[in-house]
Amino acid sequence: MSDQRPGLSGVPPHELTEWLAAQDEPAWRARQIADALWTGGGVTDAAAIVTLPSALRESLGAFARLDTVGDTETQVTDGGLTEKALHRLDDGVLIESVLMHYPATRGSRERHTLCLSSQAGCAVGCPFCATGELGFGRDLETAEILDQARHAARRLAAEDKRLTNIVFMGMGEPLLNLDRVLAAVEALNDPRRFGLGARHITVSTSGVVPGIRRLTALGPQFTLAVSLHAARDALRDVLVPLNRRWPVAEVVGAARDHAAATGRRISYEVTMIGGVNDTPEDADALAELLRGDHAHVNLIPMNPVAHTPWTASPMPVIESIAATLRAAGIETTIRRNRGQEVGAACGQLAAQRAGEPPAPAVARRRERLVMASAAALRGERSDEPVPAGVGE
Ligand code: SAH
Ligand code: SF4
Repeated sequence: MSDQRPGLSGVPPHELTEWLAAQDEPAWRARQIADALWTGGGVTDAAAIVTLPSALRESLGAFARLDTVGDTETQVTDGGLTEKALHRLDDGVLIESVLMHYPATRGSRERHTLCLSSQAGCAVGCPFCATGELGFGRDLETAEILDQARHAARRLAAEDKRLTNIVFMGMGEPLLNLDRVLAAVEALNDPRRFGLGARHITVSTSGVVPGIRRLTALGPQFTLAVSLHAARDALRDVLVPLNRRWPVAEVVGAARDHAAATGRRISYEVTMIGGVNDTPEDADALAELLRGDHAHVNLIPMNPVAHTPWTASPMPVIESIAATLRAAGIETTIRRNRGQEVGAACGQLAAQRAGEPPAPAVARRRERLVMASAAALRGERSDEPVPAGVGE
């Protein structure tokens, strides 16, 4: 049976104060606990909070778990610039976070970006995504999200460095676990807890329209990134199956309202798949869709991490799409660096651990995708259902 104690990083400050009061402890102990939990990524054991009397250390340890990602394996790749962490949660579920180091350049300071997970698996099921292929496991607890950040902060603190950016681009669809993601962002933002500015946090969504609208009502909390991948519904139905529930026009409409209400530019992500979403028609449709918007497009070569019949678009094709978008006045960046190592690889380690699916199932999946994308390119809408667990 899994541990019933809450993860301490996810306990809201007022609840911690209430718990201290119930222990007949003064409220200022909350500050000592917060310092121990958050400074430099914090401690992972209540016994290490030496500022507390030993009886309180013991009762705190009985009340809450100081770390929910204690069982973590780290793999360093890319000449030390990328650290992938595979976290085994209390119930045995595996999730990933990826820490990426960007050395200083002439134009920018050194950065350390963490790509973290909001769910174990994902119900949306984008075919090119390793997490989508795994399917949905469960929502992460607020503490399980935050402890990925604390883990990375400790790795960096050991070298006297700090986390500079957090992107919710790991496993899962953050807007389908929005209450916990918002609670986690609040803690990341809070100067008395993680203390990372809202401008340094990005949440990426595949287009959960009610979630985007809820964020707009709350006001700017972070940068919103929208995974677009295709401007035409027929193709987006295949590449981002929740498009069957919330079609492109609704997603971009909600994103546009968000940009207008918050004054914050929207980032659109487009994973470039050779012969699928990189045709001149698709480039034109994308340019038309976003013309005049307060938006930035990132074109990312597909990382072949899931079982698909597809490969990344060739770089000259991506460059010509970028040129089409720029000619329409849309700011566009090609993310060519570390193509294999960006957040797009998140879900890969967990998928490897889950084992290779049986060859006939892989063959059927590939065949289905060949048919589905060919039909989409002819403009035929998919009659596949909305994925289970997406929308009501
Ligand atoms: N579920 C959210 C956030 C996690 S995915 C979303 O889809 O936005 C983060 C980003 O990685 C998304 O833009 C996603 O489309 C992209 N991605 C996933 N698998 C990829 C792959 N194999 N190659 C390139 N990008 C990929
Ligand atoms: Fe889920 Fe995002 Fe992967 Fe699509 S790309 S399956 S929404 S994690």
